[in-house]
Amino acid sequence: LIREVIESLSIKLSQKEITASIKKGCEAPVYVFADKERIRQVMINLISNATKYGKPGGSIVISVYNTDEFKVLVEVSDDGIGIEEAHLPRIFERFYRTDKARSRDKGGTGLGLAICKHIIEAHGESMHVRSKPDVGTTIGFTLSSTRGEG
Ligand code: ATP
Ligand code: MG
Repeated sequence: LIREVIESLSIKLSQKEITASIKKGCEAPVYVFADKERIRQVMINLISNATKYGKPGGSIVISVYNTDEFKVLVEVSDDGIGIEEAHLPRIFERFYRTDKARSRDKGGTGLGLAICKHIIEAHGESMHVRSKPDVGTTIGFTLSSTRGEG
């Protein structure tokens, strides 16, 4: 699914000469119990943000880990403009956009992350963010694993 999303965003990525790669934290296949099309939408939003706020010529890494027997952790990391600490608690709110995003004249309504949060919470899970201004941003979520069952 992540490979398909990267492929579907390849024009946007190549316009900024950004490379996207997948880092898998284990050899074994990762199974999750989730609504595939909703998770596709989450991945599109996160990878689009990483592209939009990413550094030209930079890289995006999408990592997938089994955290324990019951959960899978998915994170999208970029090496772009980053987010000031004061904004971090608010970026998942509807219509919230940082000044940096607005001043750099990047189109958007501020709904992408609110939609992601809604979808992930509907799966009974949560989203998280780590970021450093001018260094980069990591935004991710967990899902229930069906490892062993599915
Ligand atoms: P939309 O997704 O509706 O087109 P948007 O990208 O501005 O617009 P969100 O995806 O909800 O809105 O993100 C909210 C805000 O969080 C962004 O405006 C930006 O300020 C910040 N943000 C989100 N992702 C990143 C990122 N990867 N790097 C830096 N800032 C980010
Ligand atoms: Mg967005």
